[in-house]
Amino acid sequence: MNRFQDQTVVVTGGNKGIGYAIAERFAQEGANLVIASIEPQVEEAADALAKHGTRVIPLVCDVTDIDAVKALYDCCENTFGTVDVSVQNAGIITIAKVEDLTEREWDATMDVNTKGVFLCCQEAIRRMRKSGNGGRLINTASGQARDGFIFTPHYAASKFGVMGLTQSLAKEVAMDAITVNAICPGIIRTEMWEYNDRVWGKMLGDFKPGELMESWVQNIPMKRAGSGSDVAGLVAFLASKDADYITGQTINVDGGLIMS
Ligand code: NDP
Repeated sequence: MNRFQDQTVVVTGGNKGIGYAIAERFAQEGANLVIASIEPQVEEAADALAKHGTRVIPLVCDVTDIDAVKALYDCCENTFGTVDVSVQNAGIITIAKVEDLTEREWDATMDVNTKGVFLCCQEAIRRMRKSGNGGRLINTASGQARDGFIFTPHYAASKFGVMGLTQSLAKEVAMDAITVNAICPGIIRTEMWEYNDRVWGKMLGDFKPGELMESWVQNIPMKRAGSGSDVAGLVAFLASKDADYITGQTINVDGGLIMS
């Protein structure tokens, strides 16, 4: 399939994990890309993605920095002329008992996971409205936007925030043919989950590396963790013509872990 031929897609956190898998799916289906992350290794990711034959621009951009976010979308517009799809995927997590959770952790988590999504949506919407061609915004929330887990109140709050932001924006831009949806990945094998497994594992019991994940996977009806590619399939669908009439929704991609 070449559903995104000649389209331009922005993916934040596109250098690794779920974001890389999303970027790769768009590259495989013909899209030009701008991928952004904090670390300069984003350039290596762009080189790898460019092997699929489309143009991929890497940018170091902290999504909490309003000027950097503006520069990201300026770069996209100046290079490719449009922003057709924007995937707000960058995110962070820390795990701590409530008494130990610092104000700095709270602020950083809300800044990246919620404000960062807002700033990117705002810049993308400005350009999509100006072009008059509509567009697609896809925001990465989490299973924790449905059901907060222990030791992550800041992360759960930040992801519930993404869901509210998604619904509000969807209503505001619906008449401009711009759709705004959110996704809730479950347990997906990435560096973030390696951290979760290690730290939650220590706090919840004497789990050895990998054991916590394996025990949680037993609660998934499909009895397996997800991959970046599982998530990318949903994102590509939401960005495609087939999803023209879907907006303001938050969709789980978790093997059936959460059914609400
Ligand atoms: P990773 O930790 O593997 O990747 C996180 C990405 O976010 C990296 O590319 C990182 O860039 C980028 N990032 C972090 N902070 C910033 C920032 N301030 N500005 C720009 N980029 C930033 O995580 P995952 O791939 O697992 O997660 C991706 C998204 O999916 C996150 O929003 C996460 O909350 C969500 N999610 C993940 C789940 C999972 O099971 N893995 C489950 C549910 C939701 P860099 O490498 O440069 O630091």
